[in-house]
Order: sequence, then structure tokens, then C-alpha cells
Amino acid sequence: MLNFFKQINKPSKSNSYKYCKFINESLVFDYNNNVKLCPLSDFGIICNKYNGIWLDIEKLKIIKSESINIINSLNCPILCKNCEYYKDNKHKNDNSIKYLYLSNWKNCYLNCLYCDYPKEEDLIKAGHYDIFQSIKQLIDSQLIDVNTTIIFDCGDATIHPEFDKILYYFINYGMRNIIINTPAMRYCESISEAIAKNIAQVIIPIDSGCPYIFGRIKGTNKFDIVISNLKRYLSFEEPSEKRVILKYTILNGINDNQKELLDWFMLARDLGIKKLTIDIDKKWYNQIKTSIPQYLKELVIFIKTMSQYNEIEIDFCDRTSFIYNTINKK
Ligand code: SF4
Ligand code: SF4
Repeated sequence: MLNFFKQINKPSKSNSYKYCKFINESLVFDYNNNVKLCPLSDFGIICNKYNGIWLDIEKLKIIKSESINIINSLNCPILCKNCEYYKDNKHKNDNSIKYLYLSNWKNCYLNCLYCDYPKEEDLIKAGHYDIFQSIKQLIDSQLIDVNTTIIFDCGDATIHPEFDKILYYFINYGMRNIIINTPAMRYCESISEAIAKNIAQVIIPIDSGCPYIFGRIKGTNKFDIVISNLKRYLSFEEPSEKRVILKYTILNGINDNQKELLDWFMLARDLGIKKLTIDIDKKWYNQIKTSIPQYLKELVIFIKTMSQYNEIEIDFCDRTSFIYNTINKK
């Protein structure tokens, strides 16, 4: 593997440095039993068929250094050249991990229309590894510390058998920034504790403002359970904090209208939520990105205006941010 890197790693003719923040700063444990640098592709694989027993830290450092050289070489993969995170900048000479993605768990109780993650059967086939020892190893090796951002990715990490144990470990270690994606079908005391200590942000995707549309998108009628869990999390949030974040993913023909978006917004406002995030179904977006329909642009402007008027922070995910920036450039 390393010889392969040396052979193809001819320097770029350009004098400018190329940079990817993920290659420089992240480590991903994914559900395919890979440990890698890039959360979006299989670039920078440190280990496949990882079984959770022992991570080769020296290999991690070597692959990182080689990957940085590849990004800067003539042989940079086309997927990187076309990627939004491929920038002009210089990589830092630093092995520390700023973003740790725990994406090894894609199981969840829902069945979202836009989900492209494997479901339980595939996961059982792939097998799950024990992430806890690896986390301790990374801390002992001083590659992660209290400043590392920990990201529990989608599915629902809260149903991982060791979720509470891992989260309490991070809380007790003194981690300062933990992001938890959860559909909130299950309530966790550990999450409430992390909210109360102002160290976690919890992102809850409900994608709708009413049980009917929620049911159509999520494949379940448990809207009330989600709202009830959400309220419990909110009760632990300090008034000055924005720890519980409500998410809306726009889907073609289902919730891509002002009424549903407004219902969702009013629900969030009435619950006292102070931060929102908006995304758009990835597959649909890829079909329309060269010609974004006018009504979608209007929806993005509408929600931005509503949030400004009500002083609720809104975070546009990459795709919706692109739509918003395109409109603003005109
Ligand atoms: S440039 Fe994009 S595809 Fe390439 S490593 Fe970075 S995030 Fe991954
Ligand atoms: S919550 Fe996430 S993993 Fe679960 S079905 Fe929805 S998109 Fe898929």
C-alpha cells in the first residue's frame, strides 16, 4: 500500500497548496468496518475489516501524511478535485484529530424516505465492532483530547449497546464539544447530562410540522414520542444555550411547501428551540442542482426571513447553503 502511494505521488506542477480539512483533521469509524480519514468517500483508508481490537497508530500517521501528499499531487483523485472541501491552503503539520466521527452505527428505529444507510440485516452481516477500546487508545495516544469534536453520526447512536457508556466516558473525560444526531425515538439520561453541562449539541430531524407528514417521511406514527423526548432534552438546556437543534430535510413533493415548513418552524418556536438546521434530500438535489426550481429558492428565502424575524438561528447545510448563496450573489 505504501509503495503504491510513493509511486503515484508525483508533485503537482502548481505552486499552490491544496488542502482538505478532513484529511488534515478527522478520523472516521464507519459502518463498513473501515477506519479512514474522509467521511465522504473511501479515500485515506487506514484499516478495513477493523475489528475494534487494536488501531495501528503509526500507520494512521503515515497514511495521513501520504494522503496529504496525494491531495497535493498531480494524481489527486478526481473525486477530491470535484469536492467542495478541496481548497487552496496548506495542511498543518499536526497529527491531532480535531473531528472524530463515530459512524460505526447506522441502525435506527425509523425508515426515512431519504435514508441511504443499510438497515439492520445488512448491519448484522457486516458485524459491529467495539469502538470503546479504540476511543481509549486514541486518548492514551494523545491524538484526541478535550478539544476534539466528537460526532455521533446518523442512524441512531443512542441504540448502540454501548452508547451511554461511551458518552459518559466523554463527559467524565471533560470533552467540550459533542454532536449527537438522533431521531429522539429513545430518551437518554446521558444526553440530558451532556446538554446540562453545555458540552453537547443534539440534532433531531423531524422534517415536518405534523404527525401526518412525519409519518409519511419516517414510516412511523411515533411523532408524539419524539416531541416528548425533545421536550425533556430542552428542559436541560440553559436559557442562554442552543443545545437542542431541530432539523428539516426538504423532500420532493412531500414537505417542499411553505405550509409544512411554516408548521415545522412554528412548532420549533413554540417549543422554545433556538437553533434550526435545514437540508435537502441529497438524491433529489443531485438531479436538480444545475437548475434549482424557483419555488425552492423562495422556500429557502422564506425560512431565512422567518428565522431572522423571530431571532431563531438557522444553519443551512451544504446543499441549502449553496442555494442561499447563489440567490444572494445575484
Ligand atoms: S477532498 Fe472531499 S473527497 Fe477528498 S478527502 Fe477531502 S472530503 Fe474526502
Ligand atoms: S434517522 Fe437516519 S438512519 Fe434512521 S432512517 Fe432516518 S436517515 Fe436513516
